[in-house]
Amino acid sequence: EITAANLISMFAEIAKAMAESKAHLCELDGVIGDADHGIAMDLGFSTVATNLAAPDITAADPTTVFNTAAKSFLNAVGASSGPLYATAFMRAGASVKGKTVLTASDFADAFIAMAKGIQDRGKAEIGDKTMIDAWVPAAEAVESAKTQGASLAEILDKAGKAAEAGAEATKAMIASKGRSARLGERAIGHIDPGAASTAILIRAMGKGLG
Ligand code: ADP
Ligand code: MG
Ligand code: MG
Repeated sequence: EITAANLISMFAEIAKAMAESKAHLCELDGVIGDADHGIAMDLGFSTVATNLAAPDITAADPTTVFNTAAKSFLNAVGASSGPLYATAFMRAGASVKGKTVLTASDFADAFIAMAKGIQDRGKAEIGDKTMIDAWVPAAEAVESAKTQGASLAEILDKAGKAAEAGAEATKAMIASKGRSARLGERAIGHIDPGAASTAILIRAMGKGLG
């Protein structure tokens, strides 16, 4: 069972992973974007973690944790990843509304809602060389693991593997969304930074909830 406190630990783990990956993500974004993706993710998730560490939030329910994360991320991040992740966390919060503890299946639904939220907000499709190329296969892996009755650790491990493969696959793609779309074929051979950070985020989720 996952409580609000577990979700707070999960966001703390994500913040730690983004701080560690800041330079790497800026480097990836420097090749096909504007070199700030690591800064955006680090700032966004460190703000989320700080706001979730406030004394009045510890007794909150899962929906409040996700909504606080959404607002914090949106306020902190001016880059295009800001509204995408804010929408993801709002949708996750809505999907678990009224629940005080979450089962693995509830968390799977929240995860799938995150991927759907990013897609609705950014309108990117698979193959556009964005974070969607990591989020959608991860959500599909979560759905199938959930159907098989897998544990939370198994669900998130499958999601992490799918996201890593999805991020790797963006190397071969030309971008049709986001800043790197103007590069055309010059983007080929380079991993999309948003897809790379998605894989890092999902692995940190697994660690934080494991
Ligand atoms: P910015 O491009 O504004 O500097 P970031 O560097 O934080 O923002 O994020 C860039 C990442 O955002 C890209 O690598 C891509 O994965 C993702 N992205 C950009 N536009 C979209 C979109 N419409 N849908 C999904 N992801 C997107
Ligand atoms: Mg950028
Ligand atoms: Mg930018």
